[in-house]
Parts: sequence; structure tokens; C-alpha cells
Amino acid sequence: MCTGRVDLAFILRSFYNRIDGVYIAGCRLDECKYITHGNYHALNTVLLFKKVMEHIGLNPERLRIEFMSSAEGSRFAETVNDFVRKVRTIGPIGKGEGLNGNELTSRLNQMMMLIPYLKIAKREKLSSHLKDREAWDQLFTRDEIETLFRELPSYYIDPDKCQACMTCAKRCPVDAILSGKNLIHIVDQGKCVKCGTCLEVCPPKFGAVTKICGEPVPPPIPEEKRTIVRKKKEKGQTDKE
Ligand code: SF4
Ligand code: SF4
Repeated sequence: MCTGRVDLAFILRSFYNRIDGVYIAGCRLDECKYITHGNYHALNTVLLFKKVMEHIGLNPERLRIEFMSSAEGSRFAETVNDFVRKVRTIGPIGKGEGLNGNELTSRLNQMMMLIPYLKIAKREKLSSHLKDREAWDQLFTRDEIETLFRELPSYYIDPDKCQACMTCAKRCPVDAILSGKNLIHIVDQGKCVKCGTCLEVCPPKFGAVTKICGEPVPPPIPEEKRTIVRKKKEKGQTDKE
């Protein structure tokens, strides 16, 4: 496939399936025949994921991207052989880093949940077209990634403000919002992938969704208190009081 289709999730899934190294070969930069230049996106994705690998204790050299034309068969063979030698030196995934299987699975699972957050938080850099190879190393820094995870947001629905309009539940990409007619909505923190959509779509007149960083999320409202009792509509009266 075109490297423009390569997603963070594909790379992560490879490692999750215990592939020891991922090699991505794309067309030469600036030679893409489409205006999208998806190979730059692949490059930025790899640069970001290498920092994520460092964050979770995986050797970033398990991931490589090279750019070449279809006429450069020998270059392809040379770079693949070099990559395979390198990965063999590092050893099997996890083992080479001193991580046991359960620990590796748990770290990769956690990252899988955070892919939407990463893509949204870094969308501007992911769409950059850096020509200078030296600048590639600076595009994402270790500190930046550490900060990103340290300031991981949570989304919380204020039970006093929620009007059970169901907009957020319909738009949540992973069904992480406990919804129901006339029921105060609740974010299932275990399922939430931190995309922020609920905050964006909750009507401003309700403003029920809050982004919380660095603080614990209040516990969810008890089930028996979730029902919104609405008064019958009368002239000039709001739907819920
Ligand atoms: S941030 Fe909101 S919309 Fe996004 S996954 Fe979490 S609950 Fe769903
Ligand atoms: S969009 Fe806002 S008001 Fe509507 S159900 Fe979700 S949190 Fe409640």
C-alpha cells in the first residue's frame, strides 16, 4: 500500500503480534504523484512512534522507514538486509529490552488506547513536510512525549449540567459513554480513548463536559440518581428544571 495509508495503529499492532522489527519503504520524498505527499505523513508517523517506543521501553531501532523508487531494487535489498541484521542484534521484541510478555502486552495495549489522542495532540506536526534530515530528529522530542503522557486528559460529564441530549454518545467513536433516554450520561474512563469529541459536541448551552488534567476524575453518579425528572412543558418553561 501507499505509505500515506500507514497508521500508528498498524505499527503498534505489528509489535503487539510480536513482530521484532517493522520496515516501511516509501516513494522518494517530493516525488509523490499526488498532492497529498503521504510519504511525509508516514515519515512523521515513524518519527513520532519512535519516541513512543522509547517512552514504553522499546528499542526505537526496531522501526525504520526508507524512501526509494521502484527502480532501486538493490538499495531496497541492502537496506532490508541491514535492518534485519540490526533487529537480530537487538533480539526478540520485549526480550531484547528485558520486558516480560505480560508487561509488553500491557504497555502496548495502553498505547493502542491512546492512538486517537496522540494523533489529535500531534496533528500539526504529523502533517509537516520537513526536508532537512537533521530536523527530523527534532520534530518530536523525548521531553515533549513525556509531557504529553504526563498531562493525559480525562473527560468528565457534570451530572448537574447534563441534559441527556445524547449528542456525545452518538459521536463517541468507541462507545465509551453510558447513555440512555433521560439518563445523565457517564464517561466510561476505562474505554475512553481521549479523543475530546464529547467536549467539542456537547451543546454550549449545556457545557456539561469538562477536560480534566493532572487531577482525579470525580466518581460517576450512582445509577439510582441518573434519571432526569422533567416537568411537563408549559409555555415559557425549560425542559428540565
Ligand atoms: S473523549 Fe469523549 S468522545 Fe472521545 S472517547 Fe472519550 S468519552 Fe468518547
Ligand atoms: S452532549 Fe452534553 S448534555 Fe448532551 S448528553 Fe452529552 S454531556 Fe449530556
